Amino acid sequence: MSEQFRSIRGIHDGLPADVRRWRYIEDAAQRVFARYGFSEVRLPVLEPTGLFIRSIGSDTDIVSKEMYRFEDQGGDDICLRPEGTAGSVRAYLQAGLTRSGSQRWFYIGPMFRRERPQKGRLRQFQQIGAEWFGVSGPVEDVEALAMAHAFLNELGIADLSLEINSLGCPACRPAYREKLVAYLQARRQSLCDTCNTRIEKNPLRVLDCKVESCQAQLTDAPEMVSHLCSDCQTHFDALIAGLEALKIPYRINPRIVRGLDYYNRTAFEIVTGKLGAQGTVLAGGRYDGLIEEQGGPSTPAIGFAAGLERLAMLLPDIPGVQPDVAIVAIGESVRVYALKIANQLRRGGCRVIHCGGGSAKRQFKLADREQVRFVAVVGEDEMKSEMLRLKDMQSGEQTDIPVQDAIVCCKRMTPS
Ligand code: ATP
Ligand code: MG
Repeated sequence: MSEQFRSIRGIHDGLPADVRRWRYIEDAAQRVFARYGFSEVRLPVLEPTGLFIRSIGSDTDIVSKEMYRFEDQGGDDICLRPEGTAGSVRAYLQAGLTRSGSQRWFYIGPMFRRERPQKGRLRQFQQIGAEWFGVSGPVEDVEALAMAHAFLNELGIADLSLEINSLGCPACRPAYREKLVAYLQARRQSLCDTCNTRIEKNPLRVLDCKVESCQAQLTDAPEMVSHLCSDCQTHFDALIAGLEALKIPYRINPRIVRGLDYYNRTAFEIVTGKLGAQGTVLAGGRYDGLIEEQGGPSTPAIGFAAGLERLAMLLPDIPGVQPDVAIVAIGESVRVYALKIANQLRRGGCRVIHCGGGSAKRQFKLADREQVRFVAVVGEDEMKSEMLRLKDMQSGEQTDIPVQDAIVCCKRMTPS
């Protein structure tokens, strides 16, 4: 027997029950984001590797060890995108939109990171993300957070909490960073190996280390929110005032970091207690330095991304769409007539399945399994009179009617 292939570890198939959940989430995102004036973009999955090295930074886990990176046949260094922000900024600059006023974009699509696969942590996963270019005020931060909140609300997922922080700016962060480094250096021995390497390279990242013994060392660590310059403080206060005004519950969590230099001020996560270490369902922040970092004019921006598979795990089963009518064709001679009836019903907007001929018993059994409300029986007599026999499977009632009446009947009983 020949070898049976399996999907790559950490890369899963989206079967009908999965896709139903994804579509439900995507539809909610489309609906809610439109209310905030965001337009969908579809951007490449393959990008030049340098884009991520420049945008995310070579010291990060994503760039240093998680990217699916390769040289293509033409010798170009390319990779499968690990996230959506860098490519969005690239596209925004490439399209020359920096002088066209602020741009509100959202995207839905697959991302790739070669992480250790776990529940809620995949190597190919999907993100729904939003990016808002050209806005600097706390008002836009509030709007972006309100949109994320409204989106998750629309999904009806309970027990989510919004955690916010400020990462300061190039004016106030260096002094804070020094204090943090001193604090961490004094605890070197008790921190994990990864954190030890982060102390010099990216000390803020230590704050969100997932190793418990590291977290235990951080109880008295200095917090950025207590070291903000007056501009950052004003921004943060206005953000909080906005959340309060909109009655969006939040918690200040000084451990939330994005850990990259271009991120500044507002950082946030929406978390659930239900997915263990994979509890963050949505994360984002302000990245006023990134557009310039990619060679564009200094342009403030804010964005977030939600993990589609993590959200899907928090939803109940979404029932599939049932067909309205099953065609039961009695006898070889009506085969073509049955096909025609099926097509007429479909043109009228009904969802129709064909039971495939054979014995009436077999066909009715199939119709039963599909849980259709109606069965359209067509035999020699029906063909002659250009009718069909419509059986209501709930009441058992049968009527001989023309196709047009059957369409009306089915649509009335099983509205789409
Ligand atoms: P985590 O701390 O869980 O690793 P992250 O900080 O790496 O998350 P982001 O890069 O901010 O995540 O991505 C935004 C969201 O995308 C996450 O909050 C999560 O819901 C989802 N996500 C990130 N990585 C994965 C993955 N490997 N598998 C599934 N979903 C993911
Ligand atoms: Mg991660």
